[in-house]
Order: sequence, then structure tokens, then C-alpha cells
Amino acid sequence: MSETITARRAAATVVAAVALVMAGTAATPAEAATARTSGTAGLKGIDHDAWIRDVRAVVDRAEPYVAERAAHADGRKQAVVLDIDNTSLETDFHWATVPTPAVAPVLELARFAHERGAAVFFVTARPGVLTPATEWNLRKVGYPVDGLYVRHLPDLFQDVSTYKTAKRAEIEAKGYTIVANIGNNTTDLVGGHAERTFKLPDYDGKLS
Ligand SMILES: [Mg+2]
Repeated sequence: MSETITARRAAATVVAAVALVMAGTAATPAEAATARTSGTAGLKGIDHDAWIRDVRAVVDRAEPYVAERAAHADGRKQAVVLDIDNTSLETDFHWATVPTPAVAPVLELARFAHERGAAVFFVTARPGVLTPATEWNLRKVGYPVDGLYVRHLPDLFQDVSTYKTAKRAEIEAKGYTIVANIGNNTTDLVGGHAERTFKLPDYDGKLS
């Protein structure tokens, strides 16, 4: 096969894949425009594009660390832990978009880590009743999902940071080293059980 045909086929495959992704997951241009001003975040005056820039600045610090650790795994299982709402998914920018779109820089980081052998775990304060919808949403927008931890009774009566810390300890007990824990609230991040924490913006609690 000539290089030109190979290149054309590769290009066609990429175009088809992009079309498939856009048909299945991406916001339409109209939705993308309203995302800047809609949802509870819009009501609170948070600009979508400025938020994404702030998120990317943090992800740009996390990525080299994940790469460095993956290069020196020494046979140990590694993991990254992600919060879901306003960390992995643009929850507060969308009233009713299904599936909720991914936070693009965090999706890129999750894939980057996964390609380098790290497991991707989600730890969320969402109640267990939402497990199927949440896992479907994460996979639909392109996240690798090696584990999803939601709150069941009696976890629902614990404070969020205690619950989330316990889940990270569970992940470690399965033999993983959590190299990075990423969330937008301090309750996602306090309590240890991660080599590094990366705090995304919550604008003084405005983003849940
Ligand atoms: Mg959150």
C-alpha cells in the first residue's frame, strides 16, 4: 500500500472517529456557547473559558509528575484518583445536557495516565443510586474507568473528606500507589493517601 493511501486511510479514520465522538458526546456549538453563561456556575458569574484555563494550569503541573512516576513505577501498581463534579465533568455548567461533558484538560490527563499504566479511580460524594448513570456518563465522554466509588449507607452520614479519605485507603489496600489525587474542593484532597494533590479552582466554594 502506498504511503499516500495509508495516510489517507489514517486521516479518514481520524475524521470518522472525531465524527463519532462529536455525534455521541460533544456539545453542539449552541450548547458550547451557552455553557459559558448557563448552569448554576453561570448564575454565579463563573466564566466557562476562564475556568477551563484555570483548570489547565493545574493539569499542566500534574501531567509531568504523572509521567515521571509512571517512568519509575518499579513494578508497583499506580493510580490517579479523580473527583467527578466540576473536576471530571462540567456539572455546574450544564443544566440538562446528557451526558454531562468532560472537563477537557482532566480527560486528557486521565487518558495520559491510563496510557502509561496508571489505573483511573473516581471517588465521588454522589449517592450509590446514581452509580449506573455516573459510570455510563464517564465512559460515554471518554474516561477510562478502573473503579468508581460512590457513597452508600452508612457513608452518607460521614463528612465528605472522611469518606473520600477512606476510599483512597481502600485503593491503597488493593496494592495501588496513588500518585495524584485531583479535585476542586479541599474535601476531595485532605486526609493524605496520595503522593500529590492537585487543587482545581472552586472559586471559594462556588463550584461543588
Ligand atoms: Mg467537585
